[in-house]
Amino acid sequence: MTKNKAEIKMTSLSENIGFARMAAATFAAQLNFTLAEIEEIKVAISEAVSNCIIHGYENRTDGTVVLNLLIEDNRLIMVVEDYGIGINDIEEAMQPSFTTSEERMGLGMVFMNSFMNEMEIESETGKGTKVRMVKIPEKQE
Ligand code: ATP
Ligand code: MG
Repeated sequence: MTKNKAEIKMTSLSENIGFARMAAATFAAQLNFTLAEIEEIKVAISEAVSNCIIHGYENRTDGTVVLNLLIEDNRLIMVVEDYGIGINDIEEAMQPSFTTSEERMGLGMVFMNSFMNEMEIESETGKGTKVRMVKIPEKQE
């Protein structure tokens, strides 16, 4: 598979979660992913984009979420970025059940981490958050 790249800039509206999910799944279909793996990609993207909207922008609808999709060396790389409030303590945020909003489960990042082969977070308080995830098809053709 040759290199491929797509970039989507979205307003921080919950309507765009489904859009990001479909876009990532369609892009990922260029690689030899199973349906189960595509489902995992959809969950990870939904969780990442939701976090940008709910936490990064605290549900404000004037923010921008940037989704970068890349195919390189038979791997899918997805980068989700916001320019919101940022995360103070990334390690703490990654812990199962850790959440800063009472009505949430604190499981989004646990799913993202377990469904992806690699996951890295960069964040700066007041500047924003960037989540980079890598998924490799388990079945190599
Ligand atoms: P759930 O995903 O189960 O609905 P949650 O969003 O609180 O709950 P995680 O997705 O695991 O759980 O995120 C854990 C915590 O990390 C959040 O409660 C929030 O404090 C912080 N966080 C995650 N993503 C961001 C982000 N993009 N910007 C700012 N804070 C974030
Ligand atoms: Mg979440």
